[in-house]
Amino acid sequence: MINQERIVQELMELVQIDSAPGQERLLADALKQKLVALGLDVIEDNAGAAIGGNAGNIIARLPGTLKDAPTVAFAAHMDRVTPGLGIKPQIRDGAIYSDGTTILAADDVAGIVQMLEAVRALAEQKIEHGDIELLFTISEEAGLQGAKNLDRSLIKANAAYFLDGGGDVGTIIPSAPAQRKITVKVNGIPAHAGIEPEKGISAIVVAADAITHMNLGRIDEETTCNIGTIKGGIATNIVPAEVTLLCEVRSRNEAKLAKQVDHMVGEFEAAAKRFGVTADITVDESYPAMNLSEDDQAVQLVVEAVKALGLSPVLVPTGGGSDANILVGKGLPSVILGIGMEKVHSTQEFIAIKQLVAGAELVVAIVQQAAKA
Ligand SMILES: [Zn+2]
Repeated sequence: MINQERIVQELMELVQIDSAPGQERLLADALKQKLVALGLDVIEDNAGAAIGGNAGNIIARLPGTLKDAPTVAFAAHMDRVTPGLGIKPQIRDGAIYSDGTTILAADDVAGIVQMLEAVRALAEQKIEHGDIELLFTISEEAGLQGAKNLDRSLIKANAAYFLDGGGDVGTIIPSAPAQRKITVKVNGIPAHAGIEPEKGISAIVVAADAITHMNLGRIDEETTCNIGTIKGGIATNIVPAEVTLLCEVRSRNEAKLAKQVDHMVGEFEAAAKRFGVTADITVDESYPAMNLSEDDQAVQLVVEAVKALGLSPVLVPTGGGSDANILVGKGLPSVILGIGMEKVHSTQEFIAIKQLVAGAELVVAIVQQAAKA
């Protein structure tokens, strides 16, 4: 059903078009041209302008041949991590690699070409389908900026499938944690460390005291946290007046997330109080959780589609955050699908051609499954 030669060539073509967070223009233009040629209606939103980038999110709509079938959405991101410029893809042993000096950018060009090839297959095989929406986001790798600035009303589907997951095709990721970032500045009192240290209160000692009272690392099966950076102090002869800590908490459970954030904030405040100083604490939401259960319709639909391809569905949670978290936060049930890419974000990144093809077949199977529903 899928033209292997064509999808491989298209992946090779598109990874050679430079793209980076906020610098997706060349790839966006190439994609728009292809989408229009395939008969889709194409919109580019204003997210690019909102984040100072040179391209917006692209939303493309393929009108259905079936009037009553539900709309299904698929998504992938157009940006990539570094080193991701001047990619020279190579085929060896049934897989596509870079030349070893850059990433391959199968993350997420594989997802993009799986969608394009699926659209071609639907037309060539005359497969009946409902409306299909394809979303190509910007700046995913730089804080999910494209998804955060996406106008939600442009998506009509009641579920979205993100072709952006690790693992073989058949891997279904229905849940991912929410993340909060905690920034803490402890305000100590400076003093000369040799002449009158008793007049000072060390911000570093206060921070250390707080940390020794904290539960950190893995909190439970759904919750993790980390103090990632600590910066403070000026010289050995000054009792440090300031120390700043950056911390994160992740959980697939919002209540547990809030509890762990409160615990950490509470310990910083308690330590500051014990020493008679203050701490400035801010908590920011990086992204909300995505937490569909196995029984959700959007998940069941893809389970059936995977089975229809003769593959075994494997449901796994992820510990990371992606565009799907943001769309879930905007009220769109979303599932991440494994697309067969491996060793992403490294110069060893590759994708087996079999997996590349299977991912496109899965897109078609999901569309067919949705049309049955
Ligand atoms: Zn990705």
